[in-house]
Order: sequence, then structure tokens, then C-alpha cells
Amino acid sequence: MSENKIQCPCGVYIKDDQYKLLYLKKDIGEIDILCYNDLCYLKELGYLKFHIDESQKINFNKGRFYSPFVTWNATRMSEEKASDELKRHLIFITENLIDWQKVIEDYKANINKKREKETS
Ligand SMILES: [Zn+2]
Repeated sequence: MSENKIQCPCGVYIKDDQYKLLYLKKDIGEIDILCYNDLCYLKELGYLKFHIDESQKINFNKGRFYSPFVTWNATRMSEEKASDELKRHLIFITENLIDWQKVIEDYKANINKKREKETS
């Protein structure tokens, strides 16, 4: 039987809806994609980058997984299979796991805070 489940190098299998997301770098529009295992030694598996323009529309720049995670899965499955599956995961994360409305609100709040600082 060939392996077709994505696994983190720490040992846990990860389904597309099991990633943890960390949105700390609000002003540069970056979301970190983390392993759900609290004891994971890698923790960060990838990231999503985007830009929010004046009309508060989100422009998606890019999303990718880091190479230790990609390589781990490519060796277990095949490069092609791993790449297809990880691409599917990235799309799922973008479309289903991120609360974009909240991201936009946080971004607005952050900009306002900055403006207040500049004028005070
Ligand atoms: Zn892990």
C-alpha cells in the first residue's frame, strides 16, 4: 500500500483541516502555518503572504510549505504525489481555515493604531 497521508516529520499525520494558524505579523500580511502537535520540534510548516489594499481587498501573494516538511513527504510518497497533496492543503487552508473577515478587521485596527501614534 502506498502512503498518501501527509505527515509532519515529528510523526503526526496532518489532515487539511488540522493545521494551526498564527497571525502575528499583521502589518506585513503573513500567516504562519503550524503543526498541531504542541511538542513538534519543527512547529512552522509554511506560510501564506498577502497584501490588503486601500479598498480592503485581499491580494494573495503566495503560500508555501517549508522544505523540511515538503521533502519529508516527498520521500515517503513520491515527489509528484506529495506536491499535489500539499498544494491541495494550501488551497484548503486559504479557502476554509482562515477567517479573512477577521484578518481584514485586524489589519484595519492595526493601521488605525499606527495613524494615531503618528498624529499624537
Ligand atoms: Zn509536527
